[in-house]
Amino acid sequence: MKTSRIPGFYKMPIEERVKIVKEFAELDEEEEKTLLSFSSLPHDIADRMIENVISTMQLPLGIATNFVINGKEMLIPMAIEETSVVAAASNAAKMARPDGFKAKATEPIMIGQIQILNPSKDAVKKIMERKESIIELANEQDKILVSLGGGAKDVEAKMLSEDMMVVHLLVDVRDAMGANAVNTMAEAVAPLIEKITDGKSLLRIISNLAIHRMAEAEVIYKKEAIGGEEVVDKIVKAYEFASLDIFRAATHNKGVMNGIDAIAIATGNDWRAIEAGAHSYASLNGYKPLTTWKKNEDGDLHGKIKLPIAAGVIGGITKVHPIAKISLKILGVKNAEQLAEVMASVGLAQNFAAIFALSTKGIQAGHMKLHAQNIAVMSGAKGEEIDIVARKMIEMGKIKMDVAQEILNEIRKNKKV
Ligand code: NAD
Repeated sequence: MKTSRIPGFYKMPIEERVKIVKEFAELDEEEEKTLLSFSSLPHDIADRMIENVISTMQLPLGIATNFVINGKEMLIPMAIEETSVVAAASNAAKMARPDGFKAKATEPIMIGQIQILNPSKDAVKKIMERKESIIELANEQDKILVSLGGGAKDVEAKMLSEDMMVVHLLVDVRDAMGANAVNTMAEAVAPLIEKITDGKSLLRIISNLAIHRMAEAEVIYKKEAIGGEEVVDKIVKAYEFASLDIFRAATHNKGVMNGIDAIAIATGNDWRAIEAGAHSYASLNGYKPLTTWKKNEDGDLHGKIKLPIAAGVIGGITKVHPIAKISLKILGVKNAEQLAEVMASVGLAQNFAAIFALSTKGIQAGHMKLHAQNIAVMSGAKGEEIDIVARKMIEMGKIKMDVAQEILNEIRKNKKV
């Protein structure tokens, strides 16, 4: 039976890891070759993605193991530069087995905003009366979306001040992130809205506060799996800290986004849009943690996450970037809702991993190995020197540039004699 529980995955050579992922996700030879040999986005593809291209920049793509989401075994591709994030997610997912995470997402409804200046007094009422014609005009812009059951579904309007109103176009963007689709519609309906309101339109753009496109996930960590009821209590206190203090809440949510952004990047999604949505949602009633952690009647730890996630499996560069395409195949998600469910689950796992480490042994221990290697490289170590310098620093319990340099000098001096 297919399982994401792969003991020793982290110790395997890259080729072996790719072989396992290939089998798990039924990748073809070409995709396997791409994973093994991908060193740079072809410049012609890069040149079509953004302007003024001079080169490309790569990030590591890791696989978080052990995930079970809605009863399905899943391997999670994560593109991220920060050490320990992939390991932490894998570890948090392991502790949540066998039940894993339960997640759900709402319909993918995004908001297009049309700002109107100097509308007539009864503009809101007039917009409501002409709703259907606005929706119809919007839907003429995207026949494909409409044929898939998506498209503009509703219109809302409100006065923001005496001389400024906003009209919201609610658009079901199906499997896309939706910004282009929504922006096109917002621009197209603006002249009609001007006519209806006797006002002048200014901005016509999607809102990243995707309040109608929510993803939720929950998990129960059995107390025995995480070190007993004492640890459960500590994690609940760690959560309470974040719920009471914005300085902690910012870092708490940063940890959540470590997981969500890494999947967004791996799948070619717009992580700035997801970040903007997450933090504006967290601020709706004063900035709050995106997750909650409570002790249930059995003394186990019950975690929940809820946030807007505007991520697509089509559109943008999701089907253009070779690694994004393979990442989506590894995930095996069929639509945007399923992708959002995975992201929410991994965000929750990542948050658990962080507060579990912070409230028990501290965060630094887990960061040490790769961090020590980075410090070794920064101090000038090359090739096999990197591992030796890193190992010595860990043994000494001092992971610092000056210590790395001393060790490096020592190694090089000994080599000369
Ligand atoms: P897109 O325009 O590339 O693709 C969406 C289109 O694909 C739809 O309009 C539809 O016609 C078609 N389509 C085919 N099959 C579909 C399916 N199953 N479901 C949905 N649509 C389907 O992409 P997009 O998602 O509209 O826009 C995303 C891009 O917009 C991202 O690159 C993002 O960075 C960028 N963007 C973001 C913002 C913002 O977030 N504020 C602003 C501007 C642009």
